[in-house]
Amino acid sequence: MPRLPYRGRLAPSPTGLLHVGHACTFWIAYQRALEQRGKLVLRNEDLDPQRSKPDFAQAMIEDLQWLGIRWQEGPDIGGPFAPYQQSRRRESYLEAWRKLRDGGHIYPCTCSRKDLATAAAAPNEADDEPLYPGRCREKISEARRRNTPSDVNWRFLVPDGETIGFADLRQGPQGFVAGRDFGDFVVWRCDDVPAYQLAVVADDAAMQISEVVRGADLVKSTARQLLLIRALGLPIPAYYHCDLVRDQAGVRLAKRHGALSLRVLRAQGLNPQDVLRMYALQ
Ligand SMILES: [Zn+2]
Repeated sequence: MPRLPYRGRLAPSPTGLLHVGHACTFWIAYQRALEQRGKLVLRNEDLDPQRSKPDFAQAMIEDLQWLGIRWQEGPDIGGPFAPYQQSRRRESYLEAWRKLRDGGHIYPCTCSRKDLATAAAAPNEADDEPLYPGRCREKISEARRRNTPSDVNWRFLVPDGETIGFADLRQGPQGFVAGRDFGDFVVWRCDDVPAYQLAVVADDAAMQISEVVRGADLVKSTARQLLLIRALGLPIPAYYHCDLVRDQAGVRLAKRHGALSLRVLRAQGLNPQDVLRMYALQ
């Protein structure tokens, strides 16, 4: 089935200055939208009220523009699927939460941080969520009695043993086993903030995104999101996970390397072509 019209998205979080690793991913997303004569949506993923800052949101728009990336819909220019700030889309996430609750897909988890620290297996990778032991699964019968998600963590009940597979347009065929490679993941946090997984699935569907371009560190998260997409009865986008940018020594560029924010490279006198030649087009 041809996926037309092409709709891609740039989805930065305004929790710091735009890093060169993210910039490369956004550049690739921009190129793919151009090649397919599609539209590109800028979505401000400012869900986390503690970490998101309006100044960073403004800086990220300026930095993307400096790099030469252009988008057709976004928080700065509006569009048919506004608002393009996650902090203003809460009602849509609540609707998804209700649907998951009514479908028997999620349960309230009252484990404390301490419970989880002692019970959970250590995550395999630094950026991975520890495997939840499923202690609160029996509370699924209580789920329908709750009208709002507040005060507890809500977890998605994964189908243990099922392999969740997808064909990644860059990384090739992927498969992750539910209950082994990832456990019951959080869809709504106890501080009443929707989790990343739920928000992106709801937004990508609402904004009719046909292809998701993002970093390879999110490949496994895609398996979680595919379970949410299935539970919510939403269309499945195509996935293109970009290779992670590494420096000359082969070390992955993480966001914490402040020296490699676009602002710093720009202050050092580099122009956008230099940055792209050094990283995105290497
Ligand atoms: Zn629990």
